[in-house]
Amino acid sequence: KRLILIGPPGSGKGTQSPLIKDEYCLCHLATGDMLRAAVAAKTPLGVKAKEAMDKGELVSDDLVVGIIDEAMKKPSCQKGFILDGFPRTVVQAQKLDEMLEKKGTKVDKVLNFAIDDAILEERITGRWIHPSSGRSYHTKFAPPKAPGVDDVTGEPLIQRKDDTAEVLNSRLEAFHRQTEPVIDYYSKKGIVANLHAEKPPKEVTAEVQKVLS
Ligand code: ADP
Ligand code: ADP
Ligand code: ADP
Repeated sequence: KRLILIGPPGSGKGTQSPLIKDEYCLCHLATGDMLRAAVAAKTPLGVKAKEAMDKGELVSDDLVVGIIDEAMKKPSCQKGFILDGFPRTVVQAQKLDEMLEKKGTKVDKVLNFAIDDAILEERITGRWIHPSSGRSYHTKFAPPKAPGVDDVTGEPLIQRKDDTAEVLNSRLEAFHRQTEPVIDYYSKKGIVANLHAEKPPKEVTAEVQKVLS
C-alpha cells in the first residue's frame, strides 16, 4: 500500500507508523527524522533546514521534495510506503503526485490523525525519543521501562529541542495554515480516512487496521 500520515505535532503518527510498517512490510519515510539526522550531522542540507526547524516553521518545499525524491528510490520503497510528515503543503502534494505518476502509481490512502489542539501540549512536552530509531515515549502515557533509556537498545533518550510549548504554537499555526489544505486536496480525491487520534494508542491502532483491511 501507498500511505500518507497527516496530523498535527503529537497526534501519534510516529507511534502508529512502526505498527503499520511491521504489518504491511513497507518502507517508512519520516521527513522530520531525516531532517533531524541531517541537522545533527551538520550536512549542507541540515545547515539549511535548522533555522526553520528551531522556530517551528516549515522547511522549503524544494528541500524536502528533494529528500523524498531521493529516498523513494530505495528498493524497499518500490512496492509501497508510509510517508510520515510529508506532504505538508499543497505544493509538496502536487510534486508527490507528479513523482508517482511517472511511475504509473498513486497514493492509496491518507490517514488523517484528527485531534483537538488542546490535547497536544501535554503530549509534546512529555515526549522523549530515541534519536537513531525514532521510537518515542511519554513520561505519563508511554513511559520507558527504565527512565531516560530506550527499551530496545538501552541507549539514552532525548527531548527534541522544538518540543516546547512555545515552539509547538508555531508548529500548530503552520499545520493549520499550510497542512490542513493538504487534507482537503486528498479529500477531493476521496482517499482520506479520519482517525480519532485523541483515543488511547491501542484504539487508534485498531482504527488504522480497520481502515487498511
Ligand atoms: P507525532 O509523530 O504525530 O508528532 P508521536 O507519535 O511522537 O506524535 O506522539 C507524541 C507523544 O504522545 C509521544 O510521547 C507518544 O508517546 C504520545 N502518544 C502517542 N499516541 C498517543 C495516544 N494515543 N495517547 C496518548 N499519548 C500518545
Ligand atoms: P511533528 O512532531 O511536528 O510532526 P516532524 O518531526 O514531522 O514533527 O517535523 C519536525 C520539523 O521538521 C517541522 O517542524 C519542520 O520544520 C520540518 N519538516 C518536517 N517535514 C517537513 C515537510 N514535509 N515540509 C517542511 N518542513 C518539514
Ligand atoms: P552530504 O553532505 O552527505 O551530501 P546532504 O546534506 O547533501 O549531505 O544530504 C544528506 C542526505 O539527504 C543525502 O544522502 C541525500 O540523499 C539527501 N539529500 C540532501 N539534499 C538533497 C537534495 N537536494 N535532493 C535530493 N536528496 C538530497
